[in-house]
Amino acid sequence: MNCKRYFTGALAAFMVASSAFMAYADGPVANGADPAGLTSAPGTENETAGVAAAETTAPAPAAETQGSASGIVTVGENTSAGTVDAGEGKVLAGGNTITAGGLAGPSAAGASGTITVGSGMTSGAFSGPGGVSTSSGVTIPAVVGTGNISFAGQLTDPIVKVTDKYSYDQMSRDISSLKSRYGSHLQVKTIGTSLDGRSLYEMIIGNPNASKQILIHAGIHAREYMTPLLVMKQAEHLLAFYDSGSYQGRKLSDILAGVAIHIVPMVNPDGVTISQFGVSALRSADLRQIVNQCYAQDQADGRTTQDFERYQALWKANGRGVDLNQNFPALWDSITTGPSHASYANYKGTGALSEPESKALANLANSRNWTMTISYHSMGNLVYWDFAGNKVAEQSKAIAELVTGITGYRTNGSSGKGGFKDYVQIKDSPIPSLTIEVGSVACPMPASEFGNVWNSNQAILAALADYAADH
Ligand SMILES: [Zn+2]
Repeated sequence: MNCKRYFTGALAAFMVASSAFMAYADGPVANGADPAGLTSAPGTENETAGVAAAETTAPAPAAETQGSASGIVTVGENTSAGTVDAGEGKVLAGGNTITAGGLAGPSAAGASGTITVGSGMTSGAFSGPGGVSTSSGVTIPAVVGTGNISFAGQLTDPIVKVTDKYSYDQMSRDISSLKSRYGSHLQVKTIGTSLDGRSLYEMIIGNPNASKQILIHAGIHAREYMTPLLVMKQAEHLLAFYDSGSYQGRKLSDILAGVAIHIVPMVNPDGVTISQFGVSALRSADLRQIVNQCYAQDQADGRTTQDFERYQALWKANGRGVDLNQNFPALWDSITTGPSHASYANYKGTGALSEPESKALANLANSRNWTMTISYHSMGNLVYWDFAGNKVAEQSKAIAELVTGITGYRTNGSSGKGGFKDYVQIKDSPIPSLTIEVGSVACPMPASEFGNVWNSNQAILAALADYAADH
């Protein structure tokens, strides 16, 4: 098959990148390496030290090979070797599967009329008809290669639009608009309020009384604010094709009659606001003062050499300098690698679940019998499914294999502490769970990266719901 040639190419690219990574890892800067000028202690990220580098500093080639020696290489239909030229609206992914019948939805129908679909597999460069340009000039690929889904393609009048800084305020407006347009299929709740008074939204799509329930969250790390945009677009597509779409030949409406998908799109709206617009966008004078103190202390510690503007852009914590994904009760006491004070990143807080945002998410996780949880982070094109003491390892690994098969991402072990995924895998009533690290450029990622992220993740919600229905 054509894909074999593609696989070989991807493998070769992987091996080259792998060599580069090994050099990187073996060098004197393996721990806390910081080309960007920020320093981070080894192991302070929730995931492995390798991911700490990926999320913090690593350039794309290194990030593609984090943990490569022991990682499982899964070359799916959309690997990182495929490139999406978002600027011109072309999909140039050699391995993309284009399903001829896969553009049957009402909104995609317009797009499908201009797509020439061959035998279902394109071996070379496939030029899509051009996606829809957004206000920021970024174009989402009109054709995605995520398998047999019938809701691929563009919405003709999308509510959620790709932009460099998808903000809390924009997201709030979009949730309201989605509710107006798709109210019968969407429930909106809030699970709490951030320190600076922003709502922590929960959107529920599908049958809320179903026996299968999936919990997805994004935006827990501030500068990773492409993930709220991703899950909002995922939600919109699921809603738009709720009645007409299908996955693997199964009607979405049938799948969602037996499954509910809960999405908390932005767990850390205060931190996202700091990263996007700076401390002046915070409402609370006390919080603004804390951020300024963080900068002074991080400078004094040598944790940053950035100017204040860039320091804020790289903000990862919540509104008072606590890294929410090191604030869950998962070996929390033994986290010793981060700073002992509030900081832009990696401070675990004064106690597990000390923060209203992490507490709200933990409460939600304990509110029902979840079938699975997904934590969206960036970056690295990786999937984490394990943790020390993981009580649901086999189930989590099976879901990881499903996700890597669709996204083309690699799996990796996890040795971090204090993360949400870690917590729900070891708690009483443990939940099969993954962390998915999207994207391959440093955070905050520009909108131009969204095409790749979307291409890999468009079908994930439908795939997970389809899986949950059978497990
Ligand atoms: Zn993260």
